[in-house]
Amino acid sequence: MYLVRRLIVGISSCLVLNAVPLPQVARSTPDPTASFATPVSKQIAQSQAGVNATYEKARQYMRQQFGEVKGNDYYTLYRVVELLARANDLNDRPWRIRVIPAYDINAFATEVNLLAFYNGLLDQIDGDRDALACVVGHEMAHHTQKHIPVSVGEKQRILKQLQQEAVDEVAAENEDLRKDLTALDLGTTATGVVNQAVGGGVIGGVVTGVFQSGRRRRVEEAQNRVREIYAQKQAKLEKEWQELNHRHEFEADKFGYQYMVRAGFKPEGCLTLFSVIERLDTSQIASNTHPLASDRVTALRSLSSQYPTSKLVNEGKAKLKANPKPLTYGMSRDGESLRVDSKAGSNRF
Ligand SMILES: [Zn+2]
Repeated sequence: MYLVRRLIVGISSCLVLNAVPLPQVARSTPDPTASFATPVSKQIAQSQAGVNATYEKARQYMRQQFGEVKGNDYYTLYRVVELLARANDLNDRPWRIRVIPAYDINAFATEVNLLAFYNGLLDQIDGDRDALACVVGHEMAHHTQKHIPVSVGEKQRILKQLQQEAVDEVAAENEDLRKDLTALDLGTTATGVVNQAVGGGVIGGVVTGVFQSGRRRRVEEAQNRVREIYAQKQAKLEKEWQELNHRHEFEADKFGYQYMVRAGFKPEGCLTLFSVIERLDTSQIASNTHPLASDRVTALRSLSSQYPTSKLVNEGKAKLKANPKPLTYGMSRDGESLRVDSKAGSNRF
């Protein structure tokens, strides 16, 4: 990701997403605390009042930290993240949540355990906790499955390496060629700049001045060969890059789906989410980073038979029974995001 994994198109790896408050004033109805999570066991039901009090305190804290409207978004996200974390044993390390005040329909995973959501996406699925849980699960999965973001910088480094390999391959045919090619700017040998050079531009003039006609022809032929080899290597890299990104997206959909169902959210939430995504013009073509939205929906539909809902729900109930206490929270040390603590979170000196 690039440093980020986006849900939809993207930068860095994920769904398609500063802090401009949403236009509407507080969601006064219904009270999210009252019905957010169905008690998963009698034991939890007995302590539901205490849990609700904890959640209400969290809501007040987030409103104080982020303002009423944005605070509500953080609170809703906190509820989803902490529930998914406990229901899937993903509470061994803290998570971070950030709401980005831009109207993009996207979300992404970046840095370490940071989940970022754009206002636009939150607005489009406002009030639909199941769809939100699908987004959260997808982004969490990018982290848990170690879809290590391959940065643009890293890609450039690989391209440069491929360029050098192309030069080496051609030069291996004749050591003198290496000297001649080295006399040129190797940095431009395999790029479009060479076209200008061969065509007689500024660099072409240098070539003319440096080499005798026979040698020059040989160098130009070598340059053409380098370009050819480099283009093949580059195409192969782009193809592998795309396949890897697509594999990661399908995998994040698959794991994210299981995470949200285990936490008790409705599987249909993922279909609702994709009904939003499929309205984006970017969803109609497979990009380097994301498969076609329709292909993702097809894959999602097959998950319900592959992973029976009742089985996932029971697994989640068992995990929640073992981890009944809501995870604690606080402002991250980056000063910009909300930290959802790990299960060790409250063990402070
Ligand atoms: Zn993604």
